[in-house]
Amino acid sequence: MTDKIFREGDRSDEVADIQTRLRSLGMHIEDEPGLFGAGTKQAVRAFQQLRGVVADGIVGRHTWNELVESGWKLNDRVLYMRHPPFRGDDILALQARLNALGFDAGREDGILGRDTDRAIRAFQREYGVAEDGIVGIKTYAALSGLRIDRPVTAAGLREELRRSERGGVFDSLVVVDPGHGGDDPGARGPNDTCEADVCWDIAGRLAGHLVESGAKVRFTRTEADGPEEPERAQRANSIGGELFVSLHLNSHHEPTAEGASTYYFRTSRSGAVLAEHVQSALVDLGLKDGRTHASSYPVLKETRMPAILVEPAHITNPDDEKRLDDPEFREAVAHALGRAIASYYEEPPERPNR
Ligand SMILES: [Zn+2]
Repeated sequence: MTDKIFREGDRSDEVADIQTRLRSLGMHIEDEPGLFGAGTKQAVRAFQQLRGVVADGIVGRHTWNELVESGWKLNDRVLYMRHPPFRGDDILALQARLNALGFDAGREDGILGRDTDRAIRAFQREYGVAEDGIVGIKTYAALSGLRIDRPVTAAGLREELRRSERGGVFDSLVVVDPGHGGDDPGARGPNDTCEADVCWDIAGRLAGHLVESGAKVRFTRTEADGPEEPERAQRANSIGGELFVSLHLNSHHEPTAEGASTYYFRTSRSGAVLAEHVQSALVDLGLKDGRTHASSYPVLKETRMPAILVEPAHITNPDDEKRLDDPEFREAVAHALGRAIASYYEEPPERPNR
């Protein structure tokens, strides 16, 4: 199932499964069971918008994973830390609960990892449940009886504190992620400009600017290699990156679509702040403002540090493509990104309004 792609016109039991999952989320679908018709496509798009996935109405691996994860509700299953970790909206709810109660479950990403395990055990200790790290009947019962006010989460405070302690980009470890690569060229422009090549070029220039400001820079890939998104996130985590910047280009079936957009993971406050800095620096270059958006791309969701994915322009737009082909423009983009990252670190540590 996971490597297949389902789109309008398909008919199979798997399509019926997709429809059942969408309906259980409250989506209304008129198509006959098992037939991926216009109604199913519309429901898929609505679901994708809700989850911050590119709303193309097609069920590929990313959308399928989100569909499965969204089906889990707190109390549906026994949870504990394992490999590969449990993932789902029940874990998101568990993390939100633990964070709200003052146990630091880390970033609310719906993945049961080390931080969440530690918070579960701390909760069990404090509430007199056997400290086994297993969220079963007893732990659920202890959790469900508690009144919760929602303060700022510990993970958010920690990100904020680290940034304000730094006071500048100097000495921080920035992970730069050039999109695609290897066998995956990414999107192509009408004049055959290749997304992977442009990303690689801008990434190198950005790294130069960051190093000039005293930051340490690591890449998630080599020029010849194109790892999957979770692998890139894993690499950033394992080297202890403090900031993650993924570079891509936007593409659209409508060639008039143009301009820059920046994405961040929905529960990362610092990611949102960084995205605003980057987006406004790009708009200052004269690029059309495609705004910042909450998203659940794996590189944003599975990284443990403030992370953004930036698409400075549309490779499918002939004018944007022409600009991207110009080394001076790529240099200007890299320079703007470098400045934006520096200004993110320099911003006074007051809380943004979101
Ligand atoms: Zn891309």
